Amino acid sequence: LTVFTACSSPAEPATEPADEEEVAAPAEETIRVGLSLPTQREERWVRDKEKMEAAAAAAGIELIVRVSDANLQEQINQVEALLTQGIDVLILAPHDASAVATLVEKANQEGVPVISYDRLITDTDKVDIYLSFDNVKVGELQGKYITEQVPEGKYIIMSGAPTDNNATLFKQGAMKYIQPLIDAGKIEVIAEQAVENWVPENALRIVEAALAANNNEVDAILAPNDGTAGAAIQALAAQGLAGEVPITGQDSEVAAAKRIVEGTQSMTIFKDTRDLGEEAIQIAIKLAKGEAVATNGEVDNGVFAVPSVLLEPYVVTSDNVHELLVGSGYITEADLQ
Ligand code: BGC
Repeated sequence: LTVFTACSSPAEPATEPADEEEVAAPAEETIRVGLSLPTQREERWVRDKEKMEAAAAAAGIELIVRVSDANLQEQINQVEALLTQGIDVLILAPHDASAVATLVEKANQEGVPVISYDRLITDTDKVDIYLSFDNVKVGELQGKYITEQVPEGKYIIMSGAPTDNNATLFKQGAMKYIQPLIDAGKIEVIAEQAVENWVPENALRIVEAALAANNNEVDAILAPNDGTAGAAIQALAAQGLAGEVPITGQDSEVAAAKRIVEGTQSMTIFKDTRDLGEEAIQIAIKLAKGEAVATNGEVDNGVFAVPSVLLEPYVVTSDNVHELLVGSGYITEADLQ
């Protein structure tokens, strides 16, 4: 199937100018970008939204933002409405990696380029650019950290939402370090479960159950992000174990940074969403103008190697939390109090 994008742009409004002489010279059209975010539950997504709004305003483009609350159907409806409304570019952070593929195909048929934002959209070859962090590396940093802290013992291994391709990549990265120690008989996995929809309450139940089934004997917890780490720490705290069990995280949420300072969470990952948001707007502008976008990698989405722009993630511990997070202005010193 060949898609002739030039012929498929939405029809012009049918209103006729009343008088030819009143028509001003056509002004350069403002670029209109649609942004669809999967959630605002985690603090990072709030930051992503704020950053993109600010960057769009600074660049003088129009950004139409829609947020679906971890709900596939809502995201589909919102994106379809954006396409009907008429946008030049779509920035889409999918709630469900594969289920939104049809939306991407639809955008493509209408000549609207798609940026897969933070989370990869799978099962379609119509994604124009994947803009994210190096997510396998995020997992590697978590796995390396936790296995250095706890090279042997009982592990609880949690992963993120099965609908989120990032969760697969995080786990893949972490298991590069954990699996060899399982194979060597050093690490015993007492629970291994995905956290549906990334909901902290689900992580709480996983950790509560694992603690109960193992007489509270757990040596390390792989938590994929700060939301799930916070819940796990709550379960530990209920057993008087907060601060006793090394545990990972991700996102550099203010609450996580505080827990790192207090000593109940061992680490988090810093992904500077300010850079990601700025990049997204700059790339959207280039795509709208038909300009080339420089990439620095490719990520396989099951159908093709998606040209990707991948930013660097960093480990945050009590040793560098001030320097990395406060020093970069991501959080303030007051946030840590
Ligand atoms: C993001 C994480 C986030 C998680 C839950 C992932 O796709 O990369 O930063 O914690 O979704 O929203």
